Amino acid sequence: MSRLAQTHGLTEIQQEILSTVRDFVDKEIIPVATELEHRDEYPQDIVDGLKELGLFGLMIPEEYGGLGESLLTYALCVEEIARGWMSVSGIINTHFIVAYMLKQHGTQEQKDYFLPRMAAGEVRGAFSMSEPGLGSDVSAITSKAVKEGDEYVLNGQKMWLTNGGTSTLVAVLVRSDEGHPEGTAAHKSMTTFLIEKEPGFGEVRPGLTIPGKIDKMGYKGVDTTELIMQDLRIPANRVLGGETGRGFYQMMDGVEVGRVNVAARGCGVAQRAFELGVSYAQQRHTFGKPIAQHQAIQFKLAEMATKVEAAHAMMVNAARKKDSGERNDLEAGMAKYLASEYCKEVVEDAFRIHGGYGFSKEYEIERLYREAPMLLIGEGTAEIQKMIIGRRLLEEYRVQG
Ligand SMILES: Cc1cc2nc3c(=O)[nH]c(=O)nc-3n(C[C@H](O)[C@H](O)[C@H](O)COP(=O)(O)OP(=O)(O)OC[C@H]3O[C@@H](n4cnc5c(N)ncnc54)[C@H](O)[C@@H]3O)c2cc1C
Repeated sequence: MSRLAQTHGLTEIQQEILSTVRDFVDKEIIPVATELEHRDEYPQDIVDGLKELGLFGLMIPEEYGGLGESLLTYALCVEEIARGWMSVSGIINTHFIVAYMLKQHGTQEQKDYFLPRMAAGEVRGAFSMSEPGLGSDVSAITSKAVKEGDEYVLNGQKMWLTNGGTSTLVAVLVRSDEGHPEGTAAHKSMTTFLIEKEPGFGEVRPGLTIPGKIDKMGYKGVDTTELIMQDLRIPANRVLGGETGRGFYQMMDGVEVGRVNVAARGCGVAQRAFELGVSYAQQRHTFGKPIAQHQAIQFKLAEMATKVEAAHAMMVNAARKKDSGERNDLEAGMAKYLASEYCKEVVEDAFRIHGGYGFSKEYEIERLYREAPMLLIGEGTAEIQKMIIGRRLLEEYRVQG
């Protein structure tokens, strides 16, 4: 599908990267995605292919062995990949957030140590804020780090780690009251720890257990896990940025670029749903003509395509704003909110166009139908986006006097 979701003003290098990724998606991802998803199988061959393409280092600076590309390039690649299979974009996303956080906030030693191997895809990142008792309300985190000599001892339980099993580096946000007076605001007493571990399940490092995969309704293939810390000892030089009390801000910075990424995923899934809908509508006949010739179906297609265009434009705008060095929380929140809502609606319409066949596992739309809801939740629910958008609007449009 070339007419929709065009991006103007791309450099030759960006166009080349995107065309390579699109080709990879069409040849290596789309043909196998639904089968692997139904088996909840990790797409190792696809991941190896992405490593070869350099996608794990797309935004990591060239001095660390990455491609040093912009957030826009990254987001457009994610859009293409999600068009093929959303789970694959999930495999890259947490890695990208951790690499971004290291690049922005890491000490020089941490950057030198992790980034080159992350760019090569040898070290793979996951990030962990959520706990069994909280997701939206990050300030309520109960996992705790206590300083003992030149180490920290971590205890607590984390929930919903995308790539929890396959990753070898987890950025974990915990409460660390050390060094901060009693009664310090919650967001000022949190610290991000860089925790290295073996991939897999069970005790993957003394004091650190990844119990197993959470069985999900969709977004299969990529592993999502819990993480349990029992007297887990982490050296002080693995505090992100070397300073405690900065974790909340570091994570929020990571999640902000992650929101553009989720918007891009919404765009990709919606594009694929549109492609499936417009194709099916021209092949299925009722009452003597293709259903695409019934005005009710044409209207659906018109609405779907309009939503694909609008979401893409907002996602590109949010990415470009960040790349220009400006604050983009408003645009990222809007793009994430709109793209995920539209994605769900476009997928729903494509599903309806398929009639009964949409309910059959033989048709790709069945997978998309189970994937789209995840985007309403990940990197902050719709309600949380609206809180961010609302707060920012009131800052911008404050009535004087
Ligand atoms: C497949 C999957 C992968 C994930 N991967 C990760 C990951 O890699 N790392 C990670 O840290 N987390 C991850 N998460 C967790 C995700 O970020 C949280 O699920 C999400 O932030 C919502 O939190 P919650 O589930 O605790 O819902 P809650 O916070 O309990 O919210 C429940 C409902 O209440 C609403 N709500 C909450 N507060 C308010 C309010 N103030 N005003 C109005 N409405 C409100 C919410 O919008 C929602 O509708 C993942 C989740 C899923 C499903």
